[in-house]
Amino acid sequence: MKVGFIGLGRMGAAMAQNLVAAGHEVTVWNRSPDKAGPLVAAGATLAASPVEAAQGEVVMSMLADDHALAAVTFGADGITGGPALHVSHSTIGVAMAERLAAEPGAGGFVSAPVFGRPAAAEAAHLFVVAAGATAHLDRCAPLFEAIGQRTFRVGDTPSAANLVKLSGNFMIMAAVEAMAEAMTLADKGGVDRRTLLDVLTGTLFDAPIYKTYGDFLVEDRFRPAGFTAPLGLKDMGLVDAAATASRVPMPLLGIVRDHLRSAIATEGEDVDWAAAGLAVRRGAGLS
Ligand code: NAP
Repeated sequence: MKVGFIGLGRMGAAMAQNLVAAGHEVTVWNRSPDKAGPLVAAGATLAASPVEAAQGEVVMSMLADDHALAAVTFGADGITGGPALHVSHSTIGVAMAERLAAEPGAGGFVSAPVFGRPAAAEAAHLFVVAAGATAHLDRCAPLFEAIGQRTFRVGDTPSAANLVKLSGNFMIMAAVEAMAEAMTLADKGGVDRRTLLDVLTGTLFDAPIYKTYGDFLVEDRFRPAGFTAPLGLKDMGLVDAAATASRVPMPLLGIVRDHLRSAIATEGEDVDWAAAGLAVRRGAGLS
């Protein structure tokens, strides 16, 4: 299929590579064009603008946040100037997804945020959560197959997919907070963190999130970031906006958001969002 890909960051570059590898005719665009080098070497074409990348059947976008996506979609030479169906994979707010659905351009709009970090993107093991018109989702199926291991369809209202994604990211941070508190308790009581994690993930907490993020916490491994703390803080802000709009109290959200702020303040902008757990350890007097 003739497909455009916009946003070649940690996630987007790997997703676009898998589309090329699956035999699609891929045209890429990125704000910093140098990042397109490996893709062009693999057979992709570099576009001079987002609208140039939106001339095929579908154009997929994977950008940092609402602001970046709005600039690339609605700005001069934006995606909506082309005929392609726009598929947004970025983690964006519910209100932004509603705007994209209301002003879709000629080709229509599908929201398809993903679960999985850059290593999963490279391995084409992402989970795609997709919402939009059935005919549009059917057309995207081979593209989702090229980037992911499974696609979940969650209805025909695009923003529903973003609500699922934001809920999942909130639960990841809640799991990090719970593990950091339990590990700190164990550590101060003389049980090492690895032992605690091995017992818990070998019994009741046998889930990928506990294993992946548990390892980061046990090893204090927060660099290089697969998902940066500032992007995680952005997501917790989007959860808060959705909770305010729906009048849902989320007291745990306030705690994890503050711990992300603390991680960025003490560790810097380039740290992984799992470093939110450091605030718990330091609060208990551990280094
Ligand atoms: P990243 O490495 O920081 O890449 C961000 C991308 O957005 C880059 O292509 C960047 O272009 C572009 N961008 C930023 N501001 C822009 C602007 N104003 N105008 C145009 N382009 C702009 O981020 P990432 O980790 O790939 O994440 C991308 C999205 O996926 C985010 O919404 C994130 O929440 C979500 N996500 C991430 C993960 C993960 O584990 N990393 C997992 C699932 C979902 P430049 O190259 O020019 O800076």
